[in-house]
Amino acid sequence: MANDGAAASVPTRRLSPGLQRVLRQLPMGAPELWAIEAGEIDAVIDYGSANAILFPDARRALRDRGKRTAAAEHRARCALPRRNGVLAAVHGAAYRRLMPALEPVLLEAGDVLHEAGAPIRHVYFPVDCVICLLTTIDGPQTVATGLVGHEGMAGIPLALEVGVSAVRAEVQVSGTALRMAATPFTNELKRGPQLRRQLYRYVQMELTQARLMAACIASHHFEQRLASWFLMIADRASVPEMCLTQEQLAAALNVRRVSVTLASGSLRSCGLISYHRGRIAILDRAGLERASCGCWRPVEATTRHDD
Ligand SMILES: [Zn+2]
Repeated sequence: MANDGAAASVPTRRLSPGLQRVLRQLPMGAPELWAIEAGEIDAVIDYGSANAILFPDARRALRDRGKRTAAAEHRARCALPRRNGVLAAVHGAAYRRLMPALEPVLLEAGDVLHEAGAPIRHVYFPVDCVICLLTTIDGPQTVATGLVGHEGMAGIPLALEVGVSAVRAEVQVSGTALRMAATPFTNELKRGPQLRRQLYRYVQMELTQARLMAACIASHHFEQRLASWFLMIADRASVPEMCLTQEQLAAALNVRRVSVTLASGSLRSCGLISYHRGRIAILDRAGLERASCGCWRPVEATTRHDD
């Protein structure tokens, strides 16, 4: 029902026709009109169309909030490449060319990014996830020969113009990575030297790491190796607690699950780690370093970008 009283108490000129129609249905002097005039109501329900109609101030506030959220998300997205050691060392035009091709992805533990002998379709720059490079031996048996965190990249053969992976790249700790398709990646390597130079350095680090891991398997007691493995993962995962199942650990370190149970139980009874339902936290870092074989240390030293 039309009502001139609504128009008299509320400045209707700046209101949408739909809002004016709803207000005209209110009786003159209704308390809702006073509340609207005092700016205490943000929206009304139009029962005719079953829609909520926002007042201009509320609409503007929502729009501004949306802009702020979008700006914050954009800033966070732009900051991600700086959290990866390889990408953080790329600057200027090369960095600007890379940015649009980098897609943030959430990787879950157990995800296989590329299989041994299969084509590499994407490379992955970890931000806070950890990727294990597994070499297959005798069918289903595997052993870790590399660990990639925020210092590196998974898919290194592509940087050497080889399109097929020699190892299985499997996510060990869930988290975010920046993914880039193979074609823009190889195009960028041909176009500019910056990314290529950083990756060649990283190839050298990865080779050193693989050699150390092989020497560690051959030379050190399993409990020491497990302590080193926890330290290596903790240094790459950037989280206080790591989710690692005993099956994952057994597959990575090429031992039976019972060996993981015994060795992790021993480290836990010494108060060095807590381990409950696959969640591991380091309680005594210095103690765990002493309990380890030390092979985590040289690997870590080779993964720094000093220039
Ligand atoms: Zn060792």
